[in-house]
Amino acid sequence: MIGRYAPSPSGDLHFGNLRTALLSWLFARHDGGGFVLRVEDVDTARSSMASAERQLEDLAAIGLDWDGDPLYQSTRSDAYAAALASLDTYPCYCSRKEILEASRAPHAVPGSYPGTCRNGGTFKEGKAPSTRLRATVSSFTVQDFFAGVYTGEVDDMILRRGDGDWAYNLAVVVDDAFQGVTQVVRGDDLLSSAPRQAYLASLLGLPPVEYVHVPLVLNASGQRLAKRDGAVTLRDLPLDFVRDELARSIGLQPASPAGLLEQFDPAALPREPVVFHDPR
Ligand SMILES: [Zn+2]
Repeated sequence: MIGRYAPSPSGDLHFGNLRTALLSWLFARHDGGGFVLRVEDVDTARSSMASAERQLEDLAAIGLDWDGDPLYQSTRSDAYAAALASLDTYPCYCSRKEILEASRAPHAVPGSYPGTCRNGGTFKEGKAPSTRLRATVSSFTVQDFFAGVYTGEVDDMILRRGDGDWAYNLAVVVDDAFQGVTQVVRGDDLLSSAPRQAYLASLLGLPPVEYVHVPLVLNASGQRLAKRDGAVTLRDLPLDFVRDELARSIGLQPASPAGLLEQFDPAALPREPVVFHDPR
């Protein structure tokens, strides 16, 4: 049993991110399992090493510990390339606008790729194609701790972007297997991408993971918490306040990390979204 937390280093972690990190850690450690970190810096334009270092400091400050060194996705190109080479793929020259328009056609699934380039894309001078998976299913089913049996759409997802950056779906699957991860705890905004990832894992011959998609933390207006919602990061707020609020948001009495582990009971977890108010 190995859990993980895998933030994208594009800014400080806010209360919702920290809560998901703490939940991942509690799920893993309460069973005596391993816990690893991964820095998801595949988006080279938005990621920074300085941000990654601040995030790791914040995770340590709220009491999390992890096994070994964090894995940086920016060092993993060779592994992603090897996985890509083993899959049935094709180049896609479509622009974002073309895909949006095509996916508005009758019978199309909104936002999903309609397979325009599947049988040979139209080469465009000066445009580097993205690489897409030739999917042989249109849906896939996963098991989730909260959602239960969940079936979601699978399309010819992008595995590598035209600019050379690796796609999240591919990197996540390759790295979870590489790090021996058996349980993925993350925000429920990612539930709809779990079937794509589980399908990719099956194509790559990798073991399936157990999913726990936790409700997101909301702001006072009921929208997903974001940095624009005021004092929401550990840098804006007193550490003790954040640690106490994190514990309460999980239905636990504020305590040391060891004390939280003793109290933690997955079956008793609140299933409703948590609302966070800027305390100032
Ligand atoms: Zn295309």
